[in-house]
Amino acid sequence: MTESCQLCGGADHITISRKDRHGGDLVTVLCMNCGVVTNDPIPTDEELAAFYRSAYRKEYKGTAEPRMRQVWRNFSRLAAHVSAYRDIYDRREKCLDLGAGSGEFMFLAKALGIACTGIEPNEDYSAYCRDRLDLDVRTQTLEETKFAPGSFDLIRLSHVLEHMRDPVRSLKVLHRWLAKDGVLYIEVPDIAVEADRKVRGRLFHFGHIFNFNPYTLRLAAGLAGFEVLPEAEKRGAGRTGVFFHKSAGRFAMPAGGTKNAAGMKASMDSHFARAMPRPATGSALGRFVSVNRLRLREMLAAKRFASHRAIADHFATVVRAGGDRP
Ligand SMILES: [Zn+2]
Repeated sequence: MTESCQLCGGADHITISRKDRHGGDLVTVLCMNCGVVTNDPIPTDEELAAFYRSAYRKEYKGTAEPRMRQVWRNFSRLAAHVSAYRDIYDRREKCLDLGAGSGEFMFLAKALGIACTGIEPNEDYSAYCRDRLDLDVRTQTLEETKFAPGSFDLIRLSHVLEHMRDPVRSLKVLHRWLAKDGVLYIEVPDIAVEADRKVRGRLFHFGHIFNFNPYTLRLAAGLAGFEVLPEAEKRGAGRTGVFFHKSAGRFAMPAGGTKNAAGMKASMDSHFARAMPRPATGSALGRFVSVNRLRLREMLAAKRFASHRAIADHFATVVRAGGDRP
């Protein structure tokens, strides 16, 4: 790697993998000064645009709509999330959902009376959001998007930041669009958790440029002028789904960077040292059985509904029943 670390500026890094999750060539490095895990080299904007053009063509051909089971799962997960943070969502009026996906969050937020704008580069998903869920979703990328400063009091970035080639630069743009008292919710996969759960070598992906853990996610947000929202700090501790707000003071590098890097190195070493994924609980067979039981339950739950929209309306009712807006 010729460049220094985008997050901490450190130059001390080690190569942890030369293959992606499908066995193709991809070099992944670990910064020994902060613990962030990134692709090496970081792809250029042009390389990324070319990658997504071809990946989307392959991945989404003929599947213009998400599966009912998937939609049920997304809604069920998000309804639980919205209920757990209802105190924060109840005070919001204007939301920007960057990477709106199939629109589940926006639909629930709208049900709570929050005006929502979505940005989703995938044509099929954004059309699905507009046509089936009546959501204001624009088919474009972050680079093509412009808003006036302070336009939103809630910005959401779920499973998006890990795809960005310069996350701090992108977060600084969101910092401008966010109102003074606004909150930013970021959710990314936790690479340490994935390393623990996944089959050896099935970790890295050209599209996941930055692989965060709780420490490095907070570091990236801090560099862009954010700090963890105090009232959500406990609920999000140790997680990679975090509420931030604009920080009042100047940024100071948080302590513990080299310790985090050492922990990440241990986590990678243990991942590459074993043949089987470590089940979260019980045996590997037990996990296989429980995953399939969960799939079956989701399928049966989704079957009770006649359409995607019926699932959406059901969960909107569930969320609204959690209490009225003050
Ligand atoms: Zn670093």
